[in-house]
Amino acid sequence: MRNRTICILAVVILWFSWVAFPRPPRVIKPVNPNDPTNLPDQVTKNVLVIGGGLAGLSAALELSERGFNVSIKEADTVVGGRLHTKDVKLLNQTWPIETGFHAWFNNYFQSHDILERLGVTSNFRRWEAVDYIFRDYEPESIYSKGPYPLNLFGLIHRSPNMKLTDALHSVKSLVDLAYFQYDTIFEKYANTTLEEWARDKDVPQSFYDILMKPILSVTLNRRDIFSAAEMLTYNQIYFLSDSSADHRIITTKNFQDAVIGPWTQMLLSYGVRIQLNTKVEQLVMNNDGSKFISTTSNPDEQFDHVIMAASLDSIQNILKSTEKQYHDNEQIRNKINCLLRKVEKLPMAPPYKVMRVWFDKQLQNKPEILETPHHHPINLVVQYNLLEETYAEWANRTGGSVLEFHLYTWSYGDVSDDRVWDLIRPTAEEIYPDIKYFKILAYHVHSANDFPSFEINTHQFRPTVTYPTECELPNLSFAGDWLYTDFPSALMERAVTTGRQAANHVLLSEGVRQSNIVSINLDGPGIV
Ligand SMILES: Cc1cc2nc3c(=O)[nH]c(=O)nc-3n(C[C@H](O)[C@H](O)[C@H](O)COP(=O)(O)OP(=O)(O)OC[C@H]3O[C@@H](n4cnc5c(N)ncnc54)[C@H](O)[C@@H]3O)c2cc1C
Repeated sequence: MRNRTICILAVVILWFSWVAFPRPPRVIKPVNPNDPTNLPDQVTKNVLVIGGGLAGLSAALELSERGFNVSIKEADTVVGGRLHTKDVKLLNQTWPIETGFHAWFNNYFQSHDILERLGVTSNFRRWEAVDYIFRDYEPESIYSKGPYPLNLFGLIHRSPNMKLTDALHSVKSLVDLAYFQYDTIFEKYANTTLEEWARDKDVPQSFYDILMKPILSVTLNRRDIFSAAEMLTYNQIYFLSDSSADHRIITTKNFQDAVIGPWTQMLLSYGVRIQLNTKVEQLVMNNDGSKFISTTSNPDEQFDHVIMAASLDSIQNILKSTEKQYHDNEQIRNKINCLLRKVEKLPMAPPYKVMRVWFDKQLQNKPEILETPHHHPINLVVQYNLLEETYAEWANRTGGSVLEFHLYTWSYGDVSDDRVWDLIRPTAEEIYPDIKYFKILAYHVHSANDFPSFEINTHQFRPTVTYPTECELPNLSFAGDWLYTDFPSALMERAVTTGRQAANHVLLSEGVRQSNIVSINLDGPGIV
C-alpha cells in the first residue's frame, strides 16, 4: 500500500514538474560559430533586398549590423508591407492609418528579439483575453491561465459552450494536437482540409466552431480548403506548445511610431539605403550566368547577394519577366525555370479589405477588440478610439468613435470604396445594434490581394529560404511569410524569421557568424 502511494506521488510530482516547467524553446545555433561576428572592415559586400516588409526589414537589420552594404528597393511609398502605416487626411486632420490591427504572440521569438533591440517594447501592452461573438453560441472570452494542460481544462471549464465530456469523445484528435510532430505533419495532412481532419477525428462541433474556426478566419484564407497540416501547426504556435502560447501584445501607437519608424531609423544609422517607390520588375544576371547581380530599374548597381522579400505574387512576376528576358539563354532559362517550378504554382488567398469608419457616437460597454468569425464578411472589429492615442483624443473631444472592420476573403467582387459600407452594414448592425443610430462622418478602405494561400495540394511547391541554391543560384534567397520553414512558424513571425534565415545564408557564404534562430519545439507537449 505504502509503495503504491509513493509511486502515485512520484508520478504526480513528475507530471507536475513536466507541466510547470515546459520544454524550453528550440535554439538553432550558427553552423559556423567560430567565424567572426562582422565582415572585416576592408571587405565590401553589397546586398539587394527586394521588398521592405517585415521579412525584408529583418534581413536588412541582421546584415547591416554586421557590416554589409544593404539596399532595400520598396515598391510602395512607405516600408512596412502588410504592417505599414500611411497618413490620410480626413475631417480636417491627418490620421495615421495602418493596414489593419495586428497582434504579436508569445512565441514570436525573432520578432520579440527585434522589438527589444529597437528598444520599443514600451510601445506595446498585453491583450489579455480574446472576446468572440457567434451566431449560434454564447459569447466567449478566451484566455489561458495556469500550467499546461490545466490551462486548457480551465478554458473549457469557463466556456458557456464547450463541455469537457465532449472533448473526451475526440480522443483521436489528441494524437495530432498534444502529440503533434512537425516532421511528419505535412506528410500526413498537407492535402487534407481542416474540415476533413476534424470530421475524421470526431472533433465536437462546438470545439471546431469556437476554437478552430476563429483561427482559420485570421489566416485570411478560404476556410474550406485550408490545409490541416498548416492549421495543426498554428495550433501548436498559438495554443498548445506551452501555457502562455496564446499571450499576446498589441501596440499602443500606430505601427509606424511603435515599430516601423524606429526600425527604419536603426537601418539608416547602419547605412542602409532605402529606395521607396522603386518597383523591381526584372533581375539582371552577370556575364557568365552564374548569379543575379542587379535589376533593370538600375542596371549600373552591382550586388553580391539578392534577397527576394517581396510579396509572393510580385516574386512570381519578377521571375516570369526575368525568364522572358533570358529565354534564349538555355543555361539561365533552366535556372529560372527551376525557381518557377515551385514558386509559380503557389496561389494567393482571396482579396481582403480593412475599413475604418469615423462615427458621431460611441459604443457602450463593448470589448475594444471583438472577433466575429461567424459573421462573414466581418471577421474582427476594433474600436480604435480605445486603442490608440490619436483616436482616443479625437473621440474624447467629439464624443465620436472610430471602428475598424476586418473583411477577409472578400466575396463581393471589385466594388468601389463607397459601396463597402452598404454591403457590410446589415452584419455590422447585427453585431452592434446601436450602430443603426450612428452617423458616418468619414471612412477609409484598405483593399489588398497580397496574402499567400495555404490551401491543400500546395505544400509540395512551397520552397525554403535557400531553395534558389538548389537551382544553382547560391547568391539568391527568398524571405517572406509564404515560405516553408523547417520548424513551426507563421504570419509575422515567419516573415521576420525567414528574413533572418536569408541573412544567415549570406553571412555563411561570406564567412561571418550566423545568428541564432529560436522556435517552439518540433513536437507537441504531450500530456503524460
Ligand atoms: C489585416 C491583417 C491583419 C494581420 N494580423 C496579423 C496578426 O495579428 N499577427 C500576425 O502575426 N500576422 C498578421 N498579419 C500577417 C502579417 O501582416 C504578414 O504575415 C507579414 O506582415 C508579412 O510580411 P512579409 O515581409 O512577408 O510580406 P509583405 O508585408 O507583403 O512585404 C512585401 C513588401 O514587398 C513590397 N513589394 C512588392 N512587390 C515589389 C516589387 N516588385 N519591388 C519592390 N518591392 C515590392 C511590398 O510593397 C511590401 O512592402 C495580418 C495581415 C493583415 C493584412
